[in-house]
Parts: sequence; structure tokens; C-alpha cells
Amino acid sequence: MSKPAVLMAVCLAAFWETALLCLGAQTNDTFALARKRMVAQQLAGPGRDITNARVLAVMSRVPRHEFVPEGLRKEAYEDQPLPIGQGQTISQPYIVAFMTEQLALKPGERVLEVGTGSGYQAAVLAELGAQVFTIEIIEELAKRAATTLQRLGYTNVQARAGDGYQGWPEAAPFDAIIVTCAPEQVPPPLIAQLKDGGRMIIPIGPSWNQHLVLLRKHGEKLQKQAVLPVRFVPMKGEVEGKALRR
Ligand code: SAH
Repeated sequence: MSKPAVLMAVCLAAFWETALLCLGAQTNDTFALARKRMVAQQLAGPGRDITNARVLAVMSRVPRHEFVPEGLRKEAYEDQPLPIGQGQTISQPYIVAFMTEQLALKPGERVLEVGTGSGYQAAVLAELGAQVFTIEIIEELAKRAATTLQRLGYTNVQARAGDGYQGWPEAAPFDAIIVTCAPEQVPPPLIAQLKDGGRMIIPIGPSWNQHLVLLRKHGEKLQKQAVLPVRFVPMKGEVEGKALRR
């Protein structure tokens, strides 16, 4: 190659590298901006009213685009659930924030999540400072979520594949339990694994008529309150046999 040609090639390479770097930085900025807008409009905005400052701060930090399939990243901060493969979905940001706010978590509390899915909800709980235990029934999703959480540095999350109906007895009791798939009744093992004073948020009911229910355990007493109509994927596994037998 002649001298001018070499020079030209070097310049071109440097140009592309700079352009790609700029593009990368811009992409991160674009996502951060989209996250800010999501918090302002979809979470704290009129008619939504998420008010817990720690929850809002965490939602503006966790990179939701890292938890959705590559082709859907541009839509990661929109006001909707998104498919994550295997017929499952990552919940709408508002529902994630709402459920998190209802749990009123303090840093260091132990939380069980049933239905890891993408791992996004687990990341939000971890970013709040909770010790998170999360179970996913579809092995491929469980593996992918564990890899994503590890890659992003969430060391306070333990993820495993399995049926969450029986909870996670070795890690119990929990200060809080969050269920992101819907059974028709609250699984009794989950109530048993809740501490005295513990909270559980769980969608209950058939797909056409579900409500998020907030439970509080006070000794032998269980206080229940329906807080929001919702639509979650049904809980699978052991619970299905129980529904048939009823
Ligand atoms: N929290 C998730 C969204 C979960 S969607 C997120 O942030 O992305 C509900 C998930 O519950 C699905 O991935 C589904 O496979 C899982 N699931 C259904 N039944 C389950 C069970 N019995 N135990 C554990 N996970 C279950």
C-alpha cells in the first residue's frame, strides 16, 4: 500500500472508532433520558401517583433495556409489558413500581420473588437494598435472568429454577414476598414462609378477573386488601393440579 493509502486507512479507522464511541454514548444517554421520562410520566404522573422517593429513584437507575430481547430495547421504557420469550412477559414499568411500593421494603430485608421472568423486578428489589431470592419455573428464563443479573453486578440476588408454589423453605422466613404470576388462591406455603409483620403482594384470580392483593401477617391473622385490577400470566406447576381438583 502507498503511504497516502495507509494514512487514509488509519484516518478512516479512527473516524469509525470515534463515530461508534459517540453512538454508544448516545445510546446510553438515550436510554437514561427515556428512563427519566418513564418515571416522570408513567410512575409519578397524574393518575399513576407512585410517591415513594426511593422507589422512583431506583426505577430511574435500573437499566430495563438490559432485561428485554435485543430487538425490543428501543421499546424498553414504554408504558407496556413486553415479550421475553417462552410465551412470558416482563411487566409494565408501572406495575413493577406499584408492587415494589406496596411492599414498603427497608434495606437488608429478605424478599422472595416467585416468577423471575427477565430478572428486572429482582434487580429493582436488589437496587433497593433487599436480599433477594427469586424462583422461575422455566429453566431457560431462570438461566438467562441469572446471567443478566450477574453481568450487571447484582450480588444480593440468588436466582434458581423451580416451582415457586412451595416457596424457598431453606431461605425462609421472609420480610416480604412478591408473586408475579397469578394463582387462583394464595399458596399456603408462601403464607407460612412470611415473617410475623411480613407483607405479600400477589395477583389472584383467573386471567379475566385478577386483582393484586396485599396481605399482611399479624401472628395467626392475615389481613387482605385488593389494591388493583391486573392481568398477569397464570401460575404454572403444582398449583394447576390443585385448581383441577377443586
Ligand atoms: N417478574 C418478571 C415478570 C414475570 S412474568 C420480570 O420482572 O420480568 C411471570 C413469570 O412467572 C414467568 O416467567 C413464568 O414462567 C413464571 N412462573 C409461572 N409459574 C411459576 C411457578 N409456579 N413458579 C415460578 N415461576 C413461575
